[in-house]
Amino acid sequence: MLPNTSEAELQSVLIGHTVASVDRRGKYLLIGFDDDAWVTVHRKMSGNLLLVPRSTERSLHTHLVVGLDNDMDLRFVDPRKFGRVNLFRSSVELNDFLAERLGPDSLVDLDAALLAEKLKGRSGRIKPLLLDQAFVAGVGNLYADEALWEAKLHPLRAANSLAPDEIGRLAEAIKHVLTQGIERRGTSFSSYRDSDGTPGENQEFLNAYGREGQACPRCGTPIRRIQIGQRSSAFCPQCQPVP
Ligand SMILES: [Zn+2]
Repeated sequence: MLPNTSEAELQSVLIGHTVASVDRRGKYLLIGFDDDAWVTVHRKMSGNLLLVPRSTERSLHTHLVVGLDNDMDLRFVDPRKFGRVNLFRSSVELNDFLAERLGPDSLVDLDAALLAEKLKGRSGRIKPLLLDQAFVAGVGNLYADEALWEAKLHPLRAANSLAPDEIGRLAEAIKHVLTQGIERRGTSFSSYRDSDGTPGENQEFLNAYGREGQACPRCGTPIRRIQIGQRSSAFCPQCQPVP
């Protein structure tokens, strides 16, 4: 779970330093220190980053504990161990790492003009493209399904077949579903917990994802689910017509 560092290196680099910033790019959480060292955390499927009093009992799958000077621990807990923690010695190293992996951030950088530019000449299907972090960073399977439902676009539409008004709707929808997810403090279908251990509430408000066979909130047609590649896609066959 430490692809480019070790416990010993983390100790030698981090001890005695102060957290200067906490940020995010795509699905990477970025923790910056006062000497320009950076720790990134990618939660993957089941990882949770918890900020808890040191006296809290450690749960079984605690893989990293960073003791802070206010008697709190930052703990990375991940039953499936897909999560990854990286260390970078400078913001240059960090930015090189992120630039190799991530396209424009879906929440910060994306707008209709940029999305139109990126879709030009892309003949693949729209859904897998949205999941490609190098195309646009930060959209996962759940939020892609929700955004396509909101924009009334079938997940199998060819990326370069979208009309300007459809691209505009999609850019809006991506930002909207992510913003709502954040306001509701995440989607806790299974293991996701906030930094204080609280589940999010966004799962109560989903329109398509996880709702196969249930009525589309917009038109009442049962939501359908299909496989695209390795991932499932939920959509409304009425509101999101087949291409
Ligand atoms: Zn519908």
